[in-house]
Amino acid sequence: MRQIAIYGKGGIGKSTTVQNLAAALAMKGRQLLLIGCDPKADCTRLILGGKAKNTVLDEMRGMQDPAKIKLKDILHEGIFGIQCVEAGGPEPGVGCAGRGIITAINLLEKMGAYHDKLDYVFYDVLGDVVCGGFAMPIREGKAKEIYIVASGEMMSLYAANNIAKGIEKFAVSGGVRVGGIICNSRNVDEEYELVDTFARELGTQMIAFIPRDNVVQYAEIDRQTVITFEPDSAQAENYRQLAEKVENNRNFTIPTPLENDRLEELFHSIIVKG
Ligand code: ADP
Ligand code: SF4
Ligand code: MG
Repeated sequence: MRQIAIYGKGGIGKSTTVQNLAAALAMKGRQLLLIGCDPKADCTRLILGGKAKNTVLDEMRGMQDPAKIKLKDILHEGIFGIQCVEAGGPEPGVGCAGRGIITAINLLEKMGAYHDKLDYVFYDVLGDVVCGGFAMPIREGKAKEIYIVASGEMMSLYAANNIAKGIEKFAVSGGVRVGGIICNSRNVDEEYELVDTFARELGTQMIAFIPRDNVVQYAEIDRQTVITFEPDSAQAENYRQLAEKVENNRNFTIPTPLENDRLEELFHSIIVKG
């Protein structure tokens, strides 16, 4: 079983990319568990055809005794048999979201959600890992394989570099490795070269370049993945190719984050002079 965490700046396209990737893998016959680790609880919407009603933390709050929670209350089956869970969020202004994630994962483990037949567990994790809480899935040694979703926008690469700094810490002590950067394009100038160069300097690879395409929005409005909404589209093929690349990936490294000055220089040398 491969346990994979997806990180990246908020709004960069993590949930969209993971769900399309998951759909493509499931269509190949793989068994998947998708765990949304975002308090918005919107990580599994396209797989379930709408938002999951019960998050793990909601369920735990309503129940005096967490041992009474049933797996069927929090585990929802979506398209192609993909199992979906939303960890949910703590009480705003009170709880720690990271703690919430690990509580949810522990409960799922205890209830047998991580069974032998699973090929993949995906964690779709909010944020830039500037807080320790959201590093939980890697910190606790659950996910050993990481992909960072980024674009050629400066703040996105800045966040990706920060995430790499967080990963580096756990990579040295634990077995966490980066499998690559997924470029989810924003159509900025020289984007391919920029993200590709950034990935290499980080000691990893740009594993895929996903173009920006309006079919993603149309599918989203219809609560679907592109894979199911328009299976013959070029974008669906891009997600299927991403699935192939992840499945066959053998390039796992400890990241070597860039100095902030070097990151800025990269933009100057590729965009300004390019
Ligand atoms: P995150 O999970 O990182 O916060 P989302 O996956 O929710 O980001 O994506 C944010 C928005 O960007 C969504 O409305 C989604 O439809 C859009 N989006 C993501 N990827 C693409 C793409 N390749 N082309 C067009 N729109 C995209
Ligand atoms: Fe919030 Fe992160 Fe601090 Fe937890 S560790 S309280 S999620 S900032
Ligand atoms: Mg998301």
